[in-house]
Amino acid sequence: MAGLYQVQGIVLSTQDFREADRILHILTPNRGKITAIAKGVRKAHSNLRSGTQRLCLARFLLYDGRSMATVTQCQVEDFFAPLRADLERLLTACYLAEIADVSVPAGQASPEMFGLLRRSLGLLVRENPHLVARAFEARAISVLGFAPRVNLCAACGAPLEEGLIPFAPAAGGALCSRCSRQYGAQYRVSREALAVWRNLASMGGSHLSRLKLSPRCQRELAEILPAYLEYYLDRRLKSRILMEQIREDAYEYGTRKN
Ligand SMILES: [Zn+2]
Repeated sequence: MAGLYQVQGIVLSTQDFREADRILHILTPNRGKITAIAKGVRKAHSNLRSGTQRLCLARFLLYDGRSMATVTQCQVEDFFAPLRADLERLLTACYLAEIADVSVPAGQASPEMFGLLRRSLGLLVRENPHLVARAFEARAISVLGFAPRVNLCAACGAPLEEGLIPFAPAAGGALCSRCSRQYGAQYRVSREALAVWRNLASMGGSHLSRLKLSPRCQRELAEILPAYLEYYLDRRLKSRILMEQIREDAYEYGTRKN
């Protein structure tokens, strides 16, 4: 039938629409991002209900419309249920979905970003969510073609000095002390953190359960990876701001209580 096609996709975000409809933003491997409407989906007996929820991997049968596609059928492939019962994992999943959303331009296919998000949601079900986020960021930066230079000074190519290494997203990576003054490098990181970044970028998340990182290395990566990614995406990620606020509130509640 003309206009009818099947796609596999991950629901990145949803908006309720009219009385009972829902608009979905779906990331697919070969058709990029698709906006589709699921009609009547918020009614109790709709058979589209589960597959049209945020962060669900499903196979959709879509009908092309003038402004957006219509979901006619969908079959859930993975609901990633454990993510929904754990706030830290759920917030991380929303953060990864937002990175995928903003980094894939409309109308452009990105099978790499789709595959990365799909694998990472699967890992988030069982692995440490902080490590899954770092592995996703490192791999996404490489997929987007922004990989930093971390073995020599990114600005002048000089060897890096001993001790903590100056790092500036604007310069494209690690810096020697002379260039660090010029760029006003705001981060100082260990060689261990830069080596782990390289490792995460090339391996993705397949070896996360075997990865042992010192708390300092985890803190450094949690600072520089999101900062680097946001610099090249040229925006602050809303879900990261939300995660930080929730963690601060929890910390404040904890300190007041004790
Ligand atoms: Zn330099």
